[in-house]
Amino acid sequence: MGSFRRLLSYIGRYKKFIGLNIVSNILTALFTVVSIPLLQPFFEILFNQTGGVTDPPAGGFSAVNIQAWFKYRYTLLIDTEGKEKALLLVCGAILLAFFFKNLFRYLALVFMAPVRNGVVRDIRQQLFDKMLVLPLPYFSEERKGDLMSRMTGDVQEVEMSILNVLEALFREPLVIAGSLAYMLYQSPSLTLFVFLLIIFTGVVIGGIGRSLKRSSALVQEKLGNLVTIVDEALGGLRIIKGFNAEAYQHAKFGAENNAYRHILTRLLWRRDLSSPLSEFLGIAVVAVLLWYGSSLVFSGKMEPDAFITFIYAFYNVIDPSKQLSKAWYSVQKGIGALHRVEQVLDAETTILEKPDAKPIRSFEREIAFKDVSFAYNKEEGHVLNQIQLNIPKGKAVALVGASGAGKSTMADLLPRFYDVEEGGVFVDGLNIKDYKIKDLRSLMGIVSQEAVLFNDTIYNNIVFGLQGVAMEDVVNAARIANAHEFIMATEKGYETNIGDRGSKLSGGQRQRLTIARAILKNPPILILDEATSALDSESEKLVQAALLELMKNRTSLVIAHRLSTIQHADEIVVMRQGRIIERGNHHALLALNGEYKKLVELQAM
Ligand code: ADP
Repeated sequence: MGSFRRLLSYIGRYKKFIGLNIVSNILTALFTVVSIPLLQPFFEILFNQTGGVTDPPAGGFSAVNIQAWFKYRYTLLIDTEGKEKALLLVCGAILLAFFFKNLFRYLALVFMAPVRNGVVRDIRQQLFDKMLVLPLPYFSEERKGDLMSRMTGDVQEVEMSILNVLEALFREPLVIAGSLAYMLYQSPSLTLFVFLLIIFTGVVIGGIGRSLKRSSALVQEKLGNLVTIVDEALGGLRIIKGFNAEAYQHAKFGAENNAYRHILTRLLWRRDLSSPLSEFLGIAVVAVLLWYGSSLVFSGKMEPDAFITFIYAFYNVIDPSKQLSKAWYSVQKGIGALHRVEQVLDAETTILEKPDAKPIRSFEREIAFKDVSFAYNKEEGHVLNQIQLNIPKGKAVALVGASGAGKSTMADLLPRFYDVEEGGVFVDGLNIKDYKIKDLRSLMGIVSQEAVLFNDTIYNNIVFGLQGVAMEDVVNAARIANAHEFIMATEKGYETNIGDRGSKLSGGQRQRLTIARAILKNPPILILDEATSALDSESEKLVQAALLELMKNRTSLVIAHRLSTIQHADEIVVMRQGRIIERGNHHALLALNGEYKKLVELQAM
């Protein structure tokens, strides 16, 4: 139960509230239990059974003769004040007990609320932070939807199923213990008798519960089969129709569909049985209790008022027991959700910083890919093969080649989004794995194919994580990126909110904002991934001009589909299937009359 211990450690941060909650719960339980014997004098008066104890018990007031002592005081009260007044007093006492019971019950909830929501907040924050540090390879293996559902649904489920009932786990045992103590005090034999009955019904009802659990797993499985068939059929409709296989599909689906109906019906029968059965068994227990209890009363072994209070105490055991078992069941359910959350929290961070990682403040000489081979996963084979590439400071190197050649992969290796296993990437002579990750990344500016913007103001999207930036610098960056004019034309200028992922802007405008962001960051190394490929030619010109400004005096690795945009690169590297097949400048490559020339001619058409 490691998960549960972890949950307790979360809860442990709210010791003050938990302490107050426990105290309130103890008081709730206390007043619940106290209300039981308070009922007794009430019945005594009604049944005209009073007046028995006219002498104080020997030894005065003490824990042993507490009841005798109260009976004595009570008789005294009836004698001096009369029955009605005494009755009124008892009613007042009952009222008071219930008032305090409910007051503390409410207070317990009041103290619990910050704990529940605090724990949920902490888990959610931890998940989000973990998401930020998890390496990119993790996200290509885990589905986004699945992660989202863990962040929202499962965290909520933990709150609903575990935190919601945590209180019951504290309180109900206290109530049960108190009521039980009272029952034992009144009549040990009757208590024993009642418990034998309860164990019997518990076994019967529990058996149904277990069989329900088994069947519902089966139901899920059958439903899964059904969905698979539908999914396959939808995907293969063209083939089904082409091969006239409708009848076959009909029969296949029909059989599963029918099996599902069959099992579901049986499940319903069993489930519907549980409530009537448990009510009947419950009543049977009460009937037996009434019969056996009355016989005790008739034979003089028990007072009638004691018997009725006993039944009330019995109710105070049954109800909390039900709550407790419900809570336990709910916790089981919640543990499943907690596990799913934990899988993310405990996921391995594969891209790690060495403990003795070196700082790097500036880029001085060159970037070098030395014998780099890389595979996303072993089974699918290498995506990059023995890449050798030098990018001296101040130069622009362009990667070209068909899609899937491995260009983006190369670009992702540089900021350590993925780690190289064979060969290495070096910056100023040192393997990038030996640098502090933050330092390494702060040397680089990335402008990707898809302009990555957030639902925030233009200003915040440009500044993006930088601290202490003057407005002047932001405007300057926007000017260089050809973005200032359109920004000023928006409703609130730099304070305009650009909507989800910048949906209120055109593609070119979005891209120019990301360029302004890169200009502001002012990194010595640039990684440009097809930054203009998604634009029409008018905005491409603007973006292209902005990019040229950005690339001035920097070292850049540019991935381009439109070859026209990288003609001036210092070196153009042509890639195919993870290998470099040609390299040189534009003219040299054209003269080579090879792959590059073919690509250029293809685009000219
Ligand atoms: P390019 O940028 O030249 O189009 P990529 O570097 O994106 O090529 O892709 C190179 C190869 O790696 C392709 O075969 C692609 O399917 C594969 N690939 C890219 N990203 C991943 C990933 N996250 N997981 C597994 N394979 C990937």
